[in-house]
Amino acid sequence: MKRNLLMILGIYLGLLGVCYLGMHEISPRHTVFLLVDAILFMSTLHYMDDKRQFIKGMALGMGLLCSIFIIRFLTPVEMKAWEVYTFLSFSFALCNILLILTAVIPHIYLKRAFVLLGGAIVLLVVIICWGYYFSEHAWLNVEAVMAALQTNSAEAFSYVHDRTGFMALVLIFFLAATLFLLVKIMCKVSVRKLSATGYVVLLVLFALSGVLLVRTSDNFVLSIYEETKDYQREYDEYARQREERQHNLAQNVTIDSQGQDGVFVLVIGESENRDHMSAYGYNLETTPWLDKMASDPNMILFQNAYSCHVQTVPVITYAMTEKNQYNTVDLEKAVSLIEVAKAAGYETVWLSNQVRYGSWGTPISVIADAADKQIWINSHQGNTLDTDYYDEELVNKLDEIKPGKKMLIVLHLMGSHISYQDRYPASFEKFMTDGNTGEYDNSVLYNDFVMSKLLDKVASWQNFKGLVYFSDHSEAIDSGKSHNPATFSLDMTNIPLYMYFAPTWQQDNAQRFSNLRQAKDYYFTNDLIFDTMLGIMGISSSQLTDSANDLSADGYNHDLARFKTLYGKKSIQDVVKK
Ligand SMILES: [Zn+2]
Repeated sequence: MKRNLLMILGIYLGLLGVCYLGMHEISPRHTVFLLVDAILFMSTLHYMDDKRQFIKGMALGMGLLCSIFIIRFLTPVEMKAWEVYTFLSFSFALCNILLILTAVIPHIYLKRAFVLLGGAIVLLVVIICWGYYFSEHAWLNVEAVMAALQTNSAEAFSYVHDRTGFMALVLIFFLAATLFLLVKIMCKVSVRKLSATGYVVLLVLFALSGVLLVRTSDNFVLSIYEETKDYQREYDEYARQREERQHNLAQNVTIDSQGQDGVFVLVIGESENRDHMSAYGYNLETTPWLDKMASDPNMILFQNAYSCHVQTVPVITYAMTEKNQYNTVDLEKAVSLIEVAKAAGYETVWLSNQVRYGSWGTPISVIADAADKQIWINSHQGNTLDTDYYDEELVNKLDEIKPGKKMLIVLHLMGSHISYQDRYPASFEKFMTDGNTGEYDNSVLYNDFVMSKLLDKVASWQNFKGLVYFSDHSEAIDSGKSHNPATFSLDMTNIPLYMYFAPTWQQDNAQRFSNLRQAKDYYFTNDLIFDTMLGIMGISSSQLTDSANDLSADGYNHDLARFKTLYGKKSIQDVVKK
């Protein structure tokens, strides 16, 4: 008994010591978890037939789960001592539960099947964390999980394959070898010959491990899952509240000005980095059309636009709705540009070359669904990365739309979405810079061509008023980091923004046009597209719009200090200065 107590004390102090060496701090309150680990371990061990096998099984399970700590130390995500204790104890509780169950299963085949299942679940968690680290050199985060959920399986597979390559094979081999080892070692774990009381005590130990598991479930690995559920809930809520938003818009919101007649066009680009556009000073001629257009008196090229996030869904959710980083509106209550335009009497059209994901997933399809007319030219819904057409087909599709008296057309391009070489026809293979960069630049060149065709077409319509183009986010093409919040850098948010106005609009809106010209160098984040588009269209409602967020308004607030990205987590000022 005395010896056991000493062992418990030894394990407790040992764990505490190791954690202190790693963390250089102690969280006194949470050390209780470590003490419980030590007590449960020694007590469970007491009931095992071959103690060495139990220790081996525990060591293997803990080794696997605790390898996740290495990722946390390799990535610059701050961690506290209590987080270490919590996850350590969670891992222990999980292993202890699995081992007790394995030990009491009498039949060897049942034992094997159980270990295989339990081991696979533990391994899956470990593999996901390590796999993401190998692919992105970052700690797994909610945004990555959400992006994976919103991505179809073909794209996810192709992405993993592109990013991990050989490492994927190593991981699969490791997975198989570890499972084999787990089965081999854990199946040897069995309980001693026990009396009825012995079984009751073991049951109590099992239950206590369960309590420990629940108490430590608020740890840094499981929290990713919990936060993802919250995110998803918010998106689902957005879809669910559609009718309520429309009802609210009709009943409670006063639209002071119903907007101007004419056709307004909003083009959402994809992954376009302005630093790779010659119109913004890139050394290769990737945007010959825009280079010329920059000096056209009807065109305004904005120099300091940034994206409000670095991934498509979060950006468009804010850009196309009343919600932005600077207000406190709940996303699910935030009316969309389409909904407001309709309420103001506009005919609305949504024209997209993006894959139309399952409507459960993203608010983009919910926003688009409100449009009077929708054209999705990408028929490969949900199954593949392919598109049927290059973006130019969207321009052809405009022929199916009869320009109305009062109309808003939104076009969603495939732009420079990964894989870049699939975004342009062979005739645009102009830049041969090694690897990705050449392909990316070709996609920018093709985008320039598409935009020239698009503007030519809409500007020829008699009642065309204006076109606004912005990219959802940028792409960290030079560092090869794509667009990932976990490895955030400023070049993921450097987006192009330009606007073209018909002379008729300029005459009717002389002050706004002059404001916009003056705002050429102002800072802007694309979650303010909602307010800015409403301003340009002449729709106003004191309940929905704020002139401080409308780039075309007299009162636009262009103070650099206020601008944020990553949903308010990063200050633009801080990253610009670096
Ligand atoms: Zn995107």
